[in-house]
Formats: sequence, structure tokens, C-alpha cells
Amino acid sequence: MILPQFEYHKVQSVAGAIALYRKYKGKARYCAGGTDLIPLLKQRLSAPAAVIDLKGIDELKTITRRKGVLIIGANVTLFDLKNDPIVREHFPALFQSLDATSCETLQMRGTIGGNILQDTRCIQYNKSLEWRTSRGFCFKMGGKACNVVLNAQACFSNYCSDNAPALITLSAKVRLKGLKGERTVDLEKIFSGNGKAPFTVEPGEVLTAILIPLKKTEGVYEKLRVRDSMDYPLVDAAVSMAGGKARVCIGGIGPAPRLYVIKNMDENTIRDTADKAYADAKPVANTTISAAYRKKMVSTLVKRAIKRVLKEGGR
Ligand SMILES: Cc1cc2nc3c(=O)[nH]c(=O)nc-3n(C[C@H](O)[C@H](O)[C@H](O)COP(=O)(O)OP(=O)(O)OC[C@H]3O[C@@H](n4cnc5c(N)ncnc54)[C@H](O)[C@@H]3O)c2cc1C
Ligand code: SF4
Repeated sequence: MILPQFEYHKVQSVAGAIALYRKYKGKARYCAGGTDLIPLLKQRLSAPAAVIDLKGIDELKTITRRKGVLIIGANVTLFDLKNDPIVREHFPALFQSLDATSCETLQMRGTIGGNILQDTRCIQYNKSLEWRTSRGFCFKMGGKACNVVLNAQACFSNYCSDNAPALITLSAKVRLKGLKGERTVDLEKIFSGNGKAPFTVEPGEVLTAILIPLKKTEGVYEKLRVRDSMDYPLVDAAVSMAGGKARVCIGGIGPAPRLYVIKNMDENTIRDTADKAYADAKPVANTTISAAYRKKMVSTLVKRAIKRVLKEGGR
């Protein structure tokens, strides 16, 4: 597939990126590693007038520690983050989710910012224009129906970042800079819950950094996928524990990850959390495996992940 025509700009600063976005009146897309965006352009799922390349912004490439917080620039690659000694030592759930993301070639190109802001996916959506035209455009393409669920009122496309659920268990925040200034919000707050437009990030906002409290945790990441060598999650579960409290996050089903907090870990609270996550999961038939199996795997992965944390501490 060939790319459509667009203007290409490589910027050296966040301010420069925002100024260009303003110039194109919203008809521009930011690009970091391009591993999510470029396939979308090739499939004509997005048609921006301009692509603004953020990879030249040095200030987004650093990992620093300040006042008990690890500050990860949005342009840090998944590979560099995985190999950071603090991530290995303090955040095993994140280390494992990074390691499970696609393959190492992709990890060397894809950034953590792009990973968090990747688009949601659906077997009826991530197709060529010809395929989608013959099927009829669905909600996510500006149409009037969902091609998976009859009479649906919303889009159920899946958010497939391996790393956002792990980051949410670590109480990560994201820093965003845009046309109206800068803000820092809990990562779980940037999801709209609507597959058509999955993020509450404002048009033109640049994700500049991810902030994680620098506390040592125990943790585990579990992922269901078809091919172990390289595949998106069909369901995933991340668990991080510190001070007897656990945060559990489920991803891969529907447009937003779901967070559960366990204050006192025992057999009853583990079972209750697995049951609640199972009840909350509403998969539909929009991946390569059945919705019923994915739902069942939610409670299996929660129990498996927690058992592993308790047994191995996530090592
Ligand atoms: C074959 C294949 C397999 C994959 N497997 C997986 C997988 O197993 N798990 C997984 O999680 N992902 C997977 N991906 C998705 C994707 O490659 C990764 O999520 C990657 O980390 C995306 O990062 P990127 O820098 O390439 O993002 P890009 O493609 O550059 O950007 C992704 C989105 O984020 C926006 N964006 C990027 N950076 C910023 C920023 N700083 N501020 C504001 N907006 C920004 C872009 O506009 C775009 O909408 C896969 C992709 C491919 C092609
Ligand atoms: S879940 Fe429905 S509306 Fe959403 S992308 Fe798939 S077919 Fe389209």
C-alpha cells in the first residue's frame, strides 16, 4: 500500500509542533515512531494535510528522576525504557509489558508516547478502503452503524496498548502541553470510553512526559495473544503491589483499560476482583478469537497474575 500525499514537517521543539498544528487548523497529525500512524494513513483511515514529526525533539527523549518521581519523555523508545535499570528494578509489571510488546524491532522504533496514544482496533475497521467501502462505513469511519453489533449505539473497538495498563497500576500520570497550556492528569483519565474517539486529549496537545512515583513495586503482566512472537493483546492484565495494596488493570477489551484496587490481599478479595473484572468485561466479536473466550480469560489472567506476584514478586 502506498501513502497518500501530505506535507511533512520535522520539528525540534514542542512549541514548534503546537505552532504548526495551529497553522494547519487541526488538519495535522503528530507522528513519533510512526508504527501506529503510518499503517492508518496507508489504509486511508486518516487523511491529514500534514504530518508533524516529533522525533527530533530532544527534550522528549530523556528519562530523569526528580523529587521521588521518574519522568519519562514521550519519545523514549519502548526498547530503551525496557532496558532502563530503574524500570527493571522498580516496576516489573512495566518491564514485562514492554517486553511483551510486539517484537524487539518494533520496540526500537515505537515510543512510549505513541504506544499510549495508539488508536483503538477492530477487525472490521483496520482494513483497506476498498474492503470498508464494500462493507459500509461504521461509526468509527463516520457511518451510522456498527458492523459488529446490530443496533449498537457506540463503537466497541479495542484499546490494545500493552503498556498503558501496566503504567496505570503504577499510578502513572501524563503531562500534556497544547494550545491552552500545560496540564498533568492521571493516565486512566485520558480515556473517553468511546471507541470512535478514545482519548480526552485536546486537539493539538502533545504528550510530553509520563510520570511514575519512584516506589519499588512487585508486579506482573499477563497477555493473551495468538502469536507469542509478535501480536497485540486480546486481553491483558497488569498487577502492581506495594505496601500490601495492589492495583490491577485490565486492557485489550473495549476502548478503555479498567482499574481495580485491592486494599487487603486475601483469597476473598482476589476472587471478588476477578469476578468484578469478569462482570465488567463486555467483549464483542471484533477480534480473531471469540468474545466468550476473551471474557473467560479476564478472570483467569487476573487470578494468574496475582498468584504470580504473591509467589515470585514478579521476578
Ligand atoms: C505489526 C505491529 C504490531 C504491533 N504490536 C503491538 C503490540 O503488541 N502491543 C502494542 O501495545 N502495540 C503494538 N503495535 C502498535 C504500535 O506499534 C506501538 O504501540 C508503538 O509503541 C506506537 O508508538 P509510535 O511511536 O510508533 O507511535 P506513532 O505511530 O508515531 O503514534 C501513534 C499515535 O500517537 C500520536 N502521538 C505519538 N506521539 C505523540 C505525542 N508525543 N503527543 C501526542 N500525540 C502523539 C500519533 O499522532 C498517533 O495518533 C503494533 C504495531 C504494528 C505495526
Ligand atoms: S466496533 Fe463497530 S463501530 Fe467500532 S470499529 Fe468495529 S465495526 Fe466500527
